[in-house]
Amino acid sequence: MANTPYPESYYAASANPVPARPALQDDVETDVCVIGAGYTGLSSALFLLEHGFKVTVLEAAKVGFGASGRNGGQIVNSYSRDIDVIERSVGPQQAQLLGNMAFEGGRIIRERVAKYQIQCDLKDGGVFAALTAKQMGHLESQKRLWERFGHTQLELLDQRRIREVVACEEYVGGMLDMSGGHIHPLNLALGEAAAVESLGGVIYEQSPAVRIERGANPVVHTPQGKVRAKFIIVAGNAYLGNLVPELAAKSMPCGTQVIATEPLGEELARSLLPQDYCVEDCNYLLDYYRLTGDKRLIFGGGVVYGARDPANIEAIIRPKMLKAFPQLKDVKIDYAWTGNFLLTLSRLPQVGRLGDNIYYSQGCSGHGVTYTHLAGKVLAEALRGQAERFDAFADLPHYPFPGGQLLRTPFAAMGAWYYGLRDKLGF
Ligand SMILES: Cc1cc2nc3c(=O)[nH]c(=O)nc-3n(C[C@H](O)[C@H](O)[C@H](O)COP(=O)(O)OP(=O)(O)OC[C@H]3O[C@@H](n4cnc5c(N)ncnc54)[C@H](O)[C@@H]3O)c2cc1C
Repeated sequence: MANTPYPESYYAASANPVPARPALQDDVETDVCVIGAGYTGLSSALFLLEHGFKVTVLEAAKVGFGASGRNGGQIVNSYSRDIDVIERSVGPQQAQLLGNMAFEGGRIIRERVAKYQIQCDLKDGGVFAALTAKQMGHLESQKRLWERFGHTQLELLDQRRIREVVACEEYVGGMLDMSGGHIHPLNLALGEAAAVESLGGVIYEQSPAVRIERGANPVVHTPQGKVRAKFIIVAGNAYLGNLVPELAAKSMPCGTQVIATEPLGEELARSLLPQDYCVEDCNYLLDYYRLTGDKRLIFGGGVVYGARDPANIEAIIRPKMLKAFPQLKDVKIDYAWTGNFLLTLSRLPQVGRLGDNIYYSQGCSGHGVTYTHLAGKVLAEALRGQAERFDAFADLPHYPFPGGQLLRTPFAAMGAWYYGLRDKLGF
């Protein structure tokens, strides 16, 4: 049977000890079968276990194998489209519910880290950096918008203040969110998996769900076993493939790339990011970066629509890093990797039910570290019969990409090219 290891990355190389977890080889029964051990699956499993459900998690490869173990590690609040866009699309009442939840994922991460003592280099503070006056204006209105929903840990940074938190000459200003921050993403996932097991949950690795038998008593099949469950949670996100065809039609896997420098040493690291905040710029095709626990710079950016792996990741990302920090021209890149996130046309998460007992959440379109933790809570609430918050997400409209599965990649790439041009020209 295939044994899929972690892809090579800084995170895999610096992971906390990973226990061996068996593949499913039996016929087992459970209350909830969760498909996928990324943040969505693990967060759902944890909330359900905390409320007395029996939970079995099936993971095709290893815990955190997908985006959750490869991402930029940035705790970014809210959603990939902001609440004003949601408000225009679905009206004030639903927007109010979603707006109230927009900062909850970050709180859940901190609660998890504290409660289960997860060692994942958690740091507070995230900066949105503006490259143009227009972007700065957008941050000012974003601050007012978020404050309207009670999220008040925000500070606008003028040009002088942003230089104090990030040594990049390109920025005209920014916004600091002290409820943002950063983590070692794979170690967060591994810590959450250990927490799942500490509460009696069972995780099978190298156990892809290959077929779901739907109906009143659904069964999930793996190559060598099956799980009979009362409920199923589908949390395979960009790695799910066509297991649930209804979901594949309205989303598109996209690749994004990350590099990690060699350790910079305390002095150089502090000269770049003196307070150790993470940073993302305000471009549509954005760059994001932060320091690791051992003072490397992790730098991410770039999107490959359709999720083909680029041949030379360093050649794509290093020039972006040097544009922000020319002072790193002699620094070596130790790791470069790629991972897939799931894009929807609206860039809002795709959440819902298939029949009475199959639930799903996916497609948070690039900003998912906080949302996926919230999603776990909201899915668990729905399974416990409290679906108001779940329904607020489930009622968001979703549409297939123009051109269907065949043409969606070139169409999305054209859209991104247009927005990339707007970023470059500053309009
Ligand atoms: C390179 C990169 C950088 C990113 N940076 C950031 C960032 O800095 N901040 C931020 O907020 N977001 C970021 N994101 C997005 C964020 O990481 C994701 O939104 C989030 O991790 C998605 O979590 P998930 O659990 O839904 O999916 P995943 O973490 O992808 O997990 C899905 C899991 O399901 C498993 N699976 C799939 N199909 C099956 C099956 N049939 N049977 C069993 N298991 C299955 C997969 O193996 C995988 O482990 C980034 C994404 C990438 C790729």
